[in-house]
Amino acid sequence: MSDKFDVVVIGSGPAGYVAAIRAAQLGLKTACIEKWKNSDGKGVNGGTCLNVGCIPSKALLDSSFKYHEAAEELAIHGISTSGVAIDIPAMLDRKNKIINQLTGGIAGLFKANGVTALYGTGKLLAGKKVELTDNEGAVSVIDAENVILASGSQPIAIPVAPVDNDLILDSTGALEIGEVPERLGVIGAGVIGLELGSVWGRLGSKVVLLEALDDFLAIMDKAIAKESKKIFTKQGLDIRLGARVTGTEVKGREVEVTYKTSAGDELKETFDKLIVCVGRRPFTEGLLSADSGVDVDERGSVFVNEFCATNAPGVYAVGDLVRGPMLAHKGSEEGVMVAERIAGHKAQMNYDIVPNVIYTHPEVASVGQTEEEVKAAGERYNVGVFPFAASGRAMAANDTDGMVKIIAHADTDRILGCHIVGPSAADLTQQVAIAMEFGSSAEDLGMTVFGHPTLSEAVHEAALAVNGSAIHIANRKRR
Ligand code: FAD
Ligand code: AMP
Repeated sequence: MSDKFDVVVIGSGPAGYVAAIRAAQLGLKTACIEKWKNSDGKGVNGGTCLNVGCIPSKALLDSSFKYHEAAEELAIHGISTSGVAIDIPAMLDRKNKIINQLTGGIAGLFKANGVTALYGTGKLLAGKKVELTDNEGAVSVIDAENVILASGSQPIAIPVAPVDNDLILDSTGALEIGEVPERLGVIGAGVIGLELGSVWGRLGSKVVLLEALDDFLAIMDKAIAKESKKIFTKQGLDIRLGARVTGTEVKGREVEVTYKTSAGDELKETFDKLIVCVGRRPFTEGLLSADSGVDVDERGSVFVNEFCATNAPGVYAVGDLVRGPMLAHKGSEEGVMVAERIAGHKAQMNYDIVPNVIYTHPEVASVGQTEEEVKAAGERYNVGVFPFAASGRAMAANDTDGMVKIIAHADTDRILGCHIVGPSAADLTQQVAIAMEFGSSAEDLGMTVFGHPTLSEAVHEAALAVNGSAIHIANRKRR
């Protein structure tokens, strides 16, 4: 390719494609290289998020929740159902149609914004040159003024449970299970394990989650994690903490899993399918030539500063490839920041306010600091809590599990964190994230008029409770 580009992006997941679109919007001549191919061998954009991550998992979560509601939850509304059945191939087909629509949409956005979409594998060479090996194997070198690395991440594999994509699956295989397994094991009770376990649990699998740590959702606010575990256990998820998987053996059409408890016992459990969800790691295979000048840290992440600049001038890295939470929106915001900085703007990203969601039902969502983090930082703080059991809207929807917890600084009243397990927790948390972005105090949120009856009123009441003025719940004694 003879043309020189202002920006070449490697990877078109939510970090890379957003960076490419923003760069092109700002008048920069931009190309984006993507190596992902669909089942027909055609190059597609969207990365993990659109193809095997956020979107397909949410499609299955929504389908399985509707099935569960129809089968189990409607009687209380006076609706009787019979013969409720799930057609798994139809469910998977719906998911695949959504993927196709969205990945095709990115190709459309590239076109509309003037991004040159290239399909193949990109490799950063020295001197901001990018080698492109296209899907037919032809190799060319592209000159770039700036390069944005956005090659994402891949599931962590553990030798004790080798993925065969038949009985032992990673998160990608778990989105393609063709029939409901009677006994489903999940290694890792983290975000992805809980979401995928919930999908198949709702469809009828007996789900056991084996989690090495003694704490459930160890990085979340403890009170919310405790409440979430109670709710998920009530739903039938068998969550075994302090259970480190040490071996697996495929025996015919079953998998026997051996795990060691924190007490030192060795136990066994047999499953029809086993999903390995022990986290993800940055993906750098074939990305960097030996003389690219880009440093990778001990965890495999490309080393970057707060503006996502690597130590090679003009080379940036964003998304799952770099430090920080592996979340689509975190990568997208980094992509925007980098594109704007390349275009000469003074963009920056607020890493303190990145919402985090588990799309179970109810959802678990958080933004900002946990109570444990605030305490450890030695700050004085107040907490306001409001349970959905006291929300009229939640009662009307028969969806009263969970609570809202807001933490504010005791001296300034500035909101430091919001943690919710409950209906629409993701969207409710986002409301507080917006307030936090504007430096809101709990009092500001308390003075805001909330529509009635809404689930958002639970956020309002929790904000009021921070300063002991909640109306629809007895206020705690002030600290
Ligand atoms: P990726 O999405 O991984 O994209 C990287 C792209 O780069 C890929 O398309 C890859 O093919 C391409 N690539 C790699 N190397 C090269 C190369 N050398 N040349 C060309 N192309 C290359 N996050 C959320 O925020 N919300 C969720 O609900 C959520 N749910 C998830 C559910 C599951 C089951 C999984 C697995 C993940 C989920 N995530 C979720 C995480 C989210 O998918 C990732 O954080 C996000 O996709 C990271 O974006 P990225 O652009 O950095 O990388
Ligand atoms: P996440 O990082 O949210 O995707 O969660 C992955 C979870 O898998 C973490 O909570 C880990 O503690 C857990 N985990 C990792 N290895 C094992 C193992 N061998 N057995 C059980 N759990 C594990």
